[in-house]
Amino acid sequence: MYFCGMLENKNPSKTSLSSLGEFALIDHLTNTVELTQSSSVMGIGDDAAILDLSEGQTLVTTDLLIEGVHFDLSYMPLKHLGYKAVIVNLSDIYAMNAKPNQITVSIAVSNRFTLEALEELYSGIQLACKNHTVDLIGGDTTSSTSGLTISITAIGSAIDKQVTRRSGAQENDLLVVSGDLGGAYAGLQILEREKAVFKVNPNNQPDLTNYAYSIERQLKPEARKDIIKLLKDLDVLPTSMIDISDGLSSEIIHLCKQSEVGCDLYETKIPLDPQVISTSEEFNMDSTTVALNGGEDYELLMTISQEDFPKIKGNPNLTVIGYMTEADRGLHLVTRGDTKVPIIAKGWKNFNEKDTE
Ligand code: ADP
Ligand code: MG
Repeated sequence: MYFCGMLENKNPSKTSLSSLGEFALIDHLTNTVELTQSSSVMGIGDDAAILDLSEGQTLVTTDLLIEGVHFDLSYMPLKHLGYKAVIVNLSDIYAMNAKPNQITVSIAVSNRFTLEALEELYSGIQLACKNHTVDLIGGDTTSSTSGLTISITAIGSAIDKQVTRRSGAQENDLLVVSGDLGGAYAGLQILEREKAVFKVNPNNQPDLTNYAYSIERQLKPEARKDIIKLLKDLDVLPTSMIDISDGLSSEIIHLCKQSEVGCDLYETKIPLDPQVISTSEEFNMDSTTVALNGGEDYELLMTISQEDFPKIKGNPNLTVIGYMTEADRGLHLVTRGDTKVPIIAKGWKNFNEKDTE
């Protein structure tokens, strides 16, 4: 179902990139692109795109994704990869309480990829653009000696000039997270396990129905545009905000460091999907550790003033998981057994000796 032996150009009906040339390739991949934002004056086709950013603050963010380091094409369909590559950038713009408007996409591809494979990648990129009303306004295309590299830059604008930085958290603010955590990491464990099984027996297509939620969290993450709208509707301006790309503990450390505060995080409050709990049990992992260190959930972690608590109370999309303290008290997880354990950044990447930063 998710295992794709689609990359090698063994099928003669697939088109090799060398038969097209760079300009025909760019044209082929981008000829359906339409501009929707009033700030996009000129997109693909000239030496540079033209934007008209007449008012407010502009936000810019970039991510670089490298095959074998950040993604594995044996279980990541290219359409999903394209979608996710855009989402991780949009998530950074939303995490500033801003709205993404444009992206550029730069790719380096080896001749192992076919035109059809890049069409898949671009269908995912364009779907993410459509879902988030973002314009694809340019990029660069080059060959590589091995594998696929994707770099995406997103450009956004602040909503009502109210940008939220990592540095604004105050003592006694509430620590709040959107959605639930650990799903993307649980999904990754399942995919890695099934990949190992598949290597031994390629005819064995796994039944992944029981893991659908976690696998979707890994392969098709969403950026929480809806949370930015919700906060605006509730009239809540977070004092600080960050998106969860590396795991809850490392994001809490970022907020505390930059805001010069401490934090008490309550283990019992961390929102977990039942599938994450059962998958953690299956893999002999502690579900709290999965939520703390898993990463790639792309939920939003924020601090809000206690005064705003009544506005978010009972909202199923937002969970209070702790509160900020004075810096000297440090960063702690208050466990189920009511003991205090220091919060340390221990990404799975270090654990696996595999850097996925
Ligand atoms: P230059 O040689 O000036 O860098 P290119 O031929 O690389 O120009 O690009 C031509 C146009 O196509 C530019 O508008 C550029 O932004 C766009 N473009 C190139 N590669 C991509 C890509 N992978 N995705 C989207 N747009 C692209
Ligand atoms: Mg170029």
